[in-house]
Amino acid sequence: MAIARFAPSPTGDLHIGNLRTALLNWLVAREAGGEFILRIDDTDLERSKEEFVDSIKYDLQWLGLEWDRLERQSLRLERYREVADDLRESGRLYECFETPVELSLKRKSQLGRGRPPVYDRASLNLPNEEIARMRSERAGYWRFLLDRASVAWRDQIFGEVSIDAASVSDPVLIRADGAFLYTMASVVDDLDMNISIVVRGSDHLTNTATQVQIMEALGRKPPAFAHHSLLTGPGGEPFSKRTGDLSLKELRSGGMEPMAILSLLATTGSSESTKLFGSMDELLEVFSIGSFSTAPTKFDPDAIARLTARRLSGLPYVEVATGIRELGVPDDAAEAFWLATRENIAVFNDLSEWWRICLKGAEPSVRDDDKEFVGQALEMLPDPPFSTDTWRNWTADVSRRTGRRGRKLYMPLRKALTGRDSGPEMAGLMPLLRHVRR
Ligand code: GLU
Repeated sequence: MAIARFAPSPTGDLHIGNLRTALLNWLVAREAGGEFILRIDDTDLERSKEEFVDSIKYDLQWLGLEWDRLERQSLRLERYREVADDLRESGRLYECFETPVELSLKRKSQLGRGRPPVYDRASLNLPNEEIARMRSERAGYWRFLLDRASVAWRDQIFGEVSIDAASVSDPVLIRADGAFLYTMASVVDDLDMNISIVVRGSDHLTNTATQVQIMEALGRKPPAFAHHSLLTGPGGEPFSKRTGDLSLKELRSGGMEPMAILSLLATTGSSESTKLFGSMDELLEVFSIGSFSTAPTKFDPDAIARLTARRLSGLPYVEVATGIRELGVPDDAAEAFWLATRENIAVFNDLSEWWRICLKGAEPSVRDDDKEFVGQALEMLPDPPFSTDTWRNWTADVSRRTGRRGRKLYMPLRKALTGRDSGPEMAGLMPLLRHVRR
């Protein structure tokens, strides 16, 4: 069975970049009728915050990306200890004592000699007395002894990948304070939870190579991998504050619709063209992880706004009935109000202004040279309530009386009644107007 996981560290709010990872994992699981695990990578106790665990869950639920199981690494420390012991016993975990300053000096000197800054294994094979002496000075931390060979796998996006582990430092799995680092916890979880496919950013390609070796050292077969490319700004520039940190919280408060966000993220960077999908089922029909490209993916946040407006313009009343009631629109006008306005809003919240206009009338916007015309026309307009024929009959009468036609007839009247030069079709809006400011 396909089992995928999304494994955020609760050190911040979800943003568009990690949402893409979440979504792709959700899709590969659902596509195969498998399981989707939300795994909270919270072994870093200082940086992990409960409020971010809550906000990650809230965001995923808001988007409809439900998980079948929730796991937390902080509850699995005992298990990591066990596996660390196994690795120690098999000689693949060794204790190191270099300080960050010493390591940085080593790196500098390697680079100075034109060598890759790979850890030189100076702590490997320290004599026991030396280890004891070092331990009395400071706590050691633990590195996994990589096999200096190339690691190859068939990536579901990148195709054949081969990484030479000789160019990678032995990864630290356990810190001096005993904390398990991401690589250790992730490997153990992926194995214990029988993860069958890992979808994550291409910034993890090297991690994957080391993780594959650790899995093999534990006598297990690694899962399948699919590394997606990273998002860039619309011009191909590295992700900026504006785009990279675009959080779900901001998108939600900006009125963006979940299906607009999901439609865009599920298709950008794939061979599937971006369009608005009506539901996740529709999206699943075209989704294929293999259709994603390895090239950095340009991401245009404005596309979310465009898809949001499109989504709203086609939504049937039943889907928004509650929201419309919350605006205070009475039930007998609610559906007509929605049908009149839905094609003329950028975000759902725009409706509150339109309802205010219906209820209280708008401050008329009238050009000086239209004043007389508008005054005359408004005198010819009966008091509300209006019907669906009001606009046609009234403008016909006004045209007969004043001789005005077309835009010169309609635009000043629209602006007089709504205060704006664009908006819903007036014929549909008139029956909703409760008040006209004259
Ligand atoms: N917590 C890791 C991260 O957010 C998970 C990476 C992975 O998917 O293995 O980068």
